[in-house]
Amino acid sequence: MERVAVVTGAARGIGAAVARRLAADGMAVAALDLDEAACADTVARIVSAGGTAIAVGADVSEADRVERAVERVVAELGPPVVLVNNAGIIRDNLLFKMGEEDWDLVMGVHLKGAFLMTKAVQGHMVDAGYGRIVSLSSTSALGNRGQANYAAAKAGIQGFTKTLALELGRFGVTANAVAPGFIVTEMTASTAARVGVEFEEFQRAATAQIPVRRVGYPEDVAHTVSFLASEGAGFVSGQVIYVAGGPRG
Ligand code: NAP
Repeated sequence: MERVAVVTGAARGIGAAVARRLAADGMAVAALDLDEAACADTVARIVSAGGTAIAVGADVSEADRVERAVERVVAELGPPVVLVNNAGIIRDNLLFKMGEEDWDLVMGVHLKGAFLMTKAVQGHMVDAGYGRIVSLSSTSALGNRGQANYAAAKAGIQGFTKTLALELGRFGVTANAVAPGFIVTEMTASTAARVGVEFEEFQRAATAQIPVRRVGYPEDVAHTVSFLASEGAGFVSGQVIYVAGGPRG
């Protein structure tokens, strides 16, 4: 039987690439995002490649929506044993200009979202005696100017992950974090727009700072998630893997 995976923020960017990759690895995938309709493309691409996928709409920062979403996944695909906490937002500003709302929003999606999703799914993993939880951190966890909220959330994901590894290991469940550097998505495009630099130029400037001399793509992250979500990675838990073209971390 196909293992069931839930990928949050799967409408586009890294989440969409992860959803496609896990489906290619043989999993049935629930592509979850704020707007169910926005996941249509991800689902269509998986199905046309011969895979199984459904679109699920939910805000990961709302407990009742999360619970209903996971119930739907169980009913339509079966109990999930792989969870990828990928949904994310940025609300960048220097600390002295950062509003409380932008702090709460970023914490709500990244940290509370990962907490609620993991809480809703972990019982199914424990029942199965098998589970793989992969959460998206970032090189920003090490500190990044203009990202006090996001850096704190992404560092928080690392502590959350290590604690899950300690608590859930005895049930056959691993938990790991992937910390990407510069990945070409709408998130980095929006940062370029905010600072008033053309995206191509923004990517060139980033490339100069990256040891492998290229920017990252969603598929680079999906490859690492695929490894951590695989059965063979069962002795890797509580780790943070930087996918950044260099050793930053
Ligand atoms: P993206 O292109 O902005 O995609 C993020 C997706 O998450 C969007 O589809 C978004 O939906 C969805 N989302 C936002 N809030 C949500 C919520 N409350 N509930 C459910 N879904 C929600 O971002 P990305 O670049 O692929 O990033 C994916 C993850 O990797 C994030 O956690 C990000 O922090 C992390 N990351 C990215 C980079 C990078 O360079 N791109 C680097 C390090 C880490 P809407 O479109 O409706 O907002």
